[in-house]
Amino acid sequence: MKVTLLGTGDAIGTPKIGCKCPACMDALRGGRSRRMRFSVLIESDEDEGRVLIDSSPDLRWQLLKKDISNVDGVIWTHAHYDHYAGFGDFHRVQRHVDVYALKDTMDYILNYLYFLKPVRHDVLAYEPFEIAGMEFTLFKVNHPPAETVGVRVCDGTKSVVITSDTNLDIPTESLEVMKNADLMLADAIMPPGYNISKHMNAEEAVLLAKRLGAKDLLLTHLAHLYPPHEIALKKWPLGHDMMEIVL
Ligand SMILES: [Zn+2]
Ligand SMILES: [Zn+2]
Ligand SMILES: [Zn+2]
Repeated sequence: MKVTLLGTGDAIGTPKIGCKCPACMDALRGGRSRRMRFSVLIESDEDEGRVLIDSSPDLRWQLLKKDISNVDGVIWTHAHYDHYAGFGDFHRVQRHVDVYALKDTMDYILNYLYFLKPVRHDVLAYEPFEIAGMEFTLFKVNHPPAETVGVRVCDGTKSVVITSDTNLDIPTESLEVMKNADLMLADAIMPPGYNISKHMNAEEAVLLAKRLGAKDLLLTHLAHLYPPHEIALKKWPLGHDMMEIVL
């Protein structure tokens, strides 16, 4: 399985429009602090299947950079703009995209995307389903007030857990699903010292990964409030855009 972090930024993205902080200046100069909004690409070894977790408002450039014109499915974790708004970029690229989400999330997003006709798959939390030979399980997290799920992906040998947007107060049933991942991608919107009720900070995300026995951890969904990427990297395991991890 190959995991590509297509976008590691928060809803605002880095650079933030109008901001001149050190991370935004690094981003404006083309450094790794430059972060598109959240999408993750999962590719299977076997049949070169491709699944997109969330469809970032920056999806067009993400697909161009990876040279992707077809996916086997898109999974939406929740109905926040930064996680679905780029889906329209499939228009005239791929006619019928299979989309997967919980029912209420799906209703909300497809209302926004009324001009498109993706192939709808309503799925339930905690009930595994298969796309491109890989098993996906959605589990509820805590990102009030939006109904939000994280995603566990397993290809039979390795597993990846993506927390999506959440605070640390995750339901016990979900913690069971999240245990012992080979790789965890965790929401860590801000460095320690900031507390925001809908998200984890870096310290909390590191704590969660340790508690759940994750073998590897990358922090994602990052705001411009971190120091510039190369400096922040000395303290925290930050992901960066277009980073590829082979499992
Ligand atoms: Zn988000
Ligand atoms: Zn900034
Ligand atoms: Zn969100």
